Amino acid sequence: MRKPFIAGNWKMNMLNEPAVALAKAVAEAAKAHPGVEVAVAPPATSLAVVLDVLRDSPVAVATQNCHWESEGAFTGELSPEMIKDMGCSHVIIGHSERRQYFGETDETVNQKVHAALRAGLMLIVCIGETLEEREAAKTFEVLERQLRKGLAGLDDVALASVTIAYEPVWAIGTGLTATPEQAQEVHAKLRAWLGDLASEERAGQMRIQYGGSVKPSNVKELMSQPDIDGALVGGASLKPDSFAGILAGSYMS
Ligand code: PEP
Repeated sequence: MRKPFIAGNWKMNMLNEPAVALAKAVAEAAKAHPGVEVAVAPPATSLAVVLDVLRDSPVAVATQNCHWESEGAFTGELSPEMIKDMGCSHVIIGHSERRQYFGETDETVNQKVHAALRAGLMLIVCIGETLEEREAAKTFEVLERQLRKGLAGLDDVALASVTIAYEPVWAIGTGLTATPEQAQEVHAKLRAWLGDLASEERAGQMRIQYGGSVKPSNVKELMSQPDIDGALVGGASLKPDSFAGILAGSYMS
C-alpha cells in the first residue's frame, strides 16, 4: 500500500510573513490528515523561516531545484549538500518551468538526481509532455525518454528515494487537468517502465504524483485511480483552504 504524497510547490511566491502563515496552516492541515505524507517547497528566501515553523510538524520541506555540484563557482545556485545542511529533506528536480525557462535538460536532470541522492535527499523528479507533443501523439515517447534519461544509473536502492511527478505541461497553471483516465494511462505506463529500471517490487512501491491544476474539486477522482499516488500542487498550494481540501480528498478515510 502506497501512502499518498501531496507536495505544494510555492514557486516564486511568498514573502516571509505570508510564508510563515501558510506554513503554520499547512502544519495544522497535515496533523489533521495523518494518512497523507505532505511536503512544501517554498522559495529559497523563505526556507529558513518555513523550516523553523515546521520543525516539529509532519510536513517535509523541499527546495524547487538544486545544482549538481557540491560547491564551487556557480553563482546563484544551491548545492544538494547545502540544502540538506539547512534541514530540508526533499528536492524537486526537472520541473517543466526549469526545463522551459532555464535550460534544464534530461542530462542536467540526471546529474542533479545523482547529486541529490549523494547528499541524502529525497527526490521529486518531474516529467511531462507539452501540448504540441501530445497532439503529435508523442506523449509516451517523450515521457519514456525523460524517465529513462533522468533516472539513468539508479539502482533499486536509489529509487527508494525517488517520487515521480507526472505533470503534463499543458495542464500546469492553465486550469486544464488531464482526465483521471488520461493520467492513469500514463501512470500505469510509467510504473511499467520503472519496472524495467528496477525490480517489479520497487516499481510497485514508488509513488507517482500527478500535477497540473489539481484542486479540492478534482483530487478525489484523480486519487481514485490505481496508479495515482499523490499530487504536486502549484497554484492551489498557496491557499491554506485549497491545500487542506486537497489533503482531505487525497485518501480514503
Ligand atoms: C506545478 O507547477 O507543479 C503545478 C502542478 O502547478 P498548478 O497546480 O498550478 O497547475
